[in-house]
Amino acid sequence: MEELVGTLLEELGIRPDSTVGAAAIQAARDVQPVVSAITATAAKWQVRITQLFKRHRLSSEHFAPTTGYGYGDRGREVLEAVWADAFGGEAALVRPQIVSGTHAIGLCLGAVCRPGDLLVSALGEPYETVKSVIGLTGQRGSLADYGVRYCEARGEEELVRAVESGAAAVFIQRSGGYSQRRALSVAQIARLVSVVKGVNQKTVCIVDNCYGEFVEELEPSHVGADLVAGSLIKNPGGGLAPTGGYIVGREELIQLVAARLVVPGSRDLGPSPIGYRHFYQGLWIAPQCVGQALITACFSARLFELLGFPVRPKFDEPRGDIIQAIGLGARERLLAFLREVQARSPVDSHVAPEPWLMPGYQHEVAMAAGTFVQGSSIEFSADAPVMAPYEVYLQGGLSAAHGIWAVIAAAKVIVS
Ligand SMILES: *Cc1c(COP(=O)(O)O)cnc(C)c1O
Repeated sequence: MEELVGTLLEELGIRPDSTVGAAAIQAARDVQPVVSAITATAAKWQVRITQLFKRHRLSSEHFAPTTGYGYGDRGREVLEAVWADAFGGEAALVRPQIVSGTHAIGLCLGAVCRPGDLLVSALGEPYETVKSVIGLTGQRGSLADYGVRYCEARGEEELVRAVESGAAAVFIQRSGGYSQRRALSVAQIARLVSVVKGVNQKTVCIVDNCYGEFVEELEPSHVGADLVAGSLIKNPGGGLAPTGGYIVGREELIQLVAARLVVPGSRDLGPSPIGYRHFYQGLWIAPQCVGQALITACFSARLFELLGFPVRPKFDEPRGDIIQAIGLGARERLLAFLREVQARSPVDSHVAPEPWLMPGYQHEVAMAAGTFVQGSSIEFSADAPVMAPYEVYLQGGLSAAHGIWAVIAAAKVIVS
C-alpha cells in the first residue's frame, strides 16, 4: 500500500511532507493489516467460484445469445445453477430482465406477501426506493395498494412481537444504505433469522443483499435466509454485467418469485440477446472487484480520519458492505469532493455533478458517477444527500489505484 500511495502522490504532484501527503502515507501504513485480510477473503471466493465453474462444466457455448422465449437456454440455466451454489441457495433467478436491485427485492416481497399479510422491516426504515415498493410514498401499485400491511421493528423485542402477531415476511437490509445504521454482518443476519424462525418457522426472511456480496466469506443464504436479492450492477456483476438482478433462495419460494417475474408457469422463459459472457465473467471477477472497493473504502476512511473528519465505519471496524461514509460538514466541501471524483472518472470526466431530486428519493441528492455501466456502483462512485451533516457516501472501485488516486485528490482540494 505504501508504494502504491507513494506512486499516486507523485502522479498528483503532492509532496509527501505536505498535510495530505503525510496523512496519505500514514493511512497506507495503518490500513495494511486490513488490506491483507480483504485480500484473503477475495482469494477464497476467487478459488470457490473458479471451482464452481469447473463443477458445472462451464464452456464458451454457455455464453451464446438467445432470442425469443429463451426456451432451453443452457447459458441461463447454468448461470442460475452456479449462482445458487455460490450463494448457498437451492435455486436462483439471474436475469437481465430484472432491471434493478429494487426490482429484485420488489419481486421477493410481492411473491411472498398476499392481501392482508403483514410485512415487517426488521431494522427500521428500508432503503428509499424500497419504501415506494412497500407503499410508504403513496405510489399506486405498491404492496399497500394490494392490501399488504407493514410495520417496522427496532430491535429484537419488537421483531419477536411482530412475528408473534403473524407476520408473513420479515425484510432484512444488509447494508445501512443512506441511514445512520451500520451494515449488518452475516452473523447478525443469522441471528435475526434464527430469532424469526424461533417464533415462527413459516415466516419468510427476505434479505436485501445490495452492496454486501463477497464482503464476507458467507452469504445470508448460507445462514438460513429464505430469499436473498441484489443488483448485478453492484458487487456480483463485477463491473462487467451490463444490467440485471438476482434472487437466490429456497426452491419453492423461487418458484413464486418466477411467477411474479414472468407469469405463473413461465419460469423457463427468458432470453439474453446479449449472451451470458459478461454475467459469468463478472461473477468470476466480482470478489476481486469487491476487494478493490473495500481497499479503497478503508484507505479513504483512514485518510479522512487523519485529516480530522468523522468517518463511518472506521478503517479497522468490521465491514458488512462496501460503503464508506465521510462527514464533510459543509455543502461546499461536499460538492467540491464530488466534483473532484467526477473529474477523475474514466467516463464523463468533463461534466460537473449537480444536486437534483432523483425519482424515488425524498430529498436532493448529488452524485459523482463516471461509470462505464450507467449507475453502476461497483465502479468507483460517490453520492450524497445534500443536507446536514453533509456526509458523502463512497462506494465501489474496480481499481483501488484509481479510487485512491481520486480520493487523495479530493482530500487535497478540501484541505487546502
Ligand atoms: C442499491 C440498493 C438497493 C436497490 O437499488 P437499485 O438502484 O434499484 O439497484 C436496495 N437496497 C440497498 C441497501 C441498496 O444499496
